[in-house]
Amino acid sequence: ARKRDGKNGLRIFDAGMLDAARERHEIEQFIEAGLKEDWFEAWLQPIVSLHDGQIVGFEALMRLDHPQKGLLPPAKIINIAEETGTISRIGDRVLEKAIRHLATISSLDGTQETYLAVNFSPLQFELTLPHKLAALLLKHHISPHRIVVEITEAVLMLDNPEVHAVLKQLQEFGCRIALDDFGTGYSSLSYLNRFPVDIVKVDQSFTRSLSSSSADVRRKSRMLIKGIRTISHQMGCTVVAEGIETKEQWQLLRKLGVDYGQGYLFSRPMPISGMLTMLENESEAKTSSTG
Ligand code: C2E
Ligand code: MG
Ligand code: MG
Ligand code: MG
Repeated sequence: ARKRDGKNGLRIFDAGMLDAARERHEIEQFIEAGLKEDWFEAWLQPIVSLHDGQIVGFEALMRLDHPQKGLLPPAKIINIAEETGTISRIGDRVLEKAIRHLATISSLDGTQETYLAVNFSPLQFELTLPHKLAALLLKHHISPHRIVVEITEAVLMLDNPEVHAVLKQLQEFGCRIALDDFGTGYSSLSYLNRFPVDIVKVDQSFTRSLSSSSADVRRKSRMLIKGIRTISHQMGCTVVAEGIETKEQWQLLRKLGVDYGQGYLFSRPMPISGMLTMLENESEAKTSSTG
């Protein structure tokens, strides 16, 4: 887009703004089409025990798979979907698909042990959510104990009684609550006090700092992670580290007492087809190595 000169006042729109407006409009259209044509998918990323690398759960990550444009990551979608209000409908689709995928995985591995973590936007905490979730779980024969509701501070920051009531109901129903991206917001510690969180997810920036080129940064991030781990454990929370990309990060986080982790080192997020292939290969490798 070109900057228009002249006296019509349009000069305030520079090329960047026009491009941004056009991109935004395009994404709004992708979202509408995606809901209509069923392009929204729940990809999965394994969460492993840092003790032995065994898979303990999966995080569902939204992808909009446009037949021509390809994959759109959530960063492009979520803000716009929150502003236009389509996030609830998208969230419902992703939730249903993720639960269906967990049921598929369970029928393959024959266990009911792994959990499913699903990200929720503040706007999704409507009074109907517990009932909707219960119906989905019943339909797919999944126990609510296997569901982790991932929220960020943004949800607790609303300090909305309705949101708190919904979170409480979900917890009473058996779901666990995870506080995502922990340590990056304004007052994370006070949220641990005000709301009964079950899982703390240490933000991936902390994991990255463990590999900083500066020895000082490395030392301080080890102290920060250890501190978060200690407080979280004392409050009865499980600790998960995000963004683990190297063996060194894994070993350090394990030594620092972090329980679980996820990251490209273990697996990138994948569509269910890829995940099933990976799980099949893993279980074959295990059977052949144990005889
Ligand atoms: P998040 O919940 O903190 O998810 C972790 C993000 O880190 C994911 O990005 C994942 O692909 C990425 N990641 C995982 N391992 C690594 C690693 O080793 N290195 C690096 N650099 N990145 C890694 P993604 O899928 O792009 O999602 C971004 C954010 O979008 C999520 O952050 C979450 O806040 C939001 N989101 C994703 N799916 C949904 C959804 O269904 N609903 C809502 N409301 N938000 C979602
Ligand atoms: Mg998350
Ligand atoms: Mg996170
Ligand atoms: Mg994040």
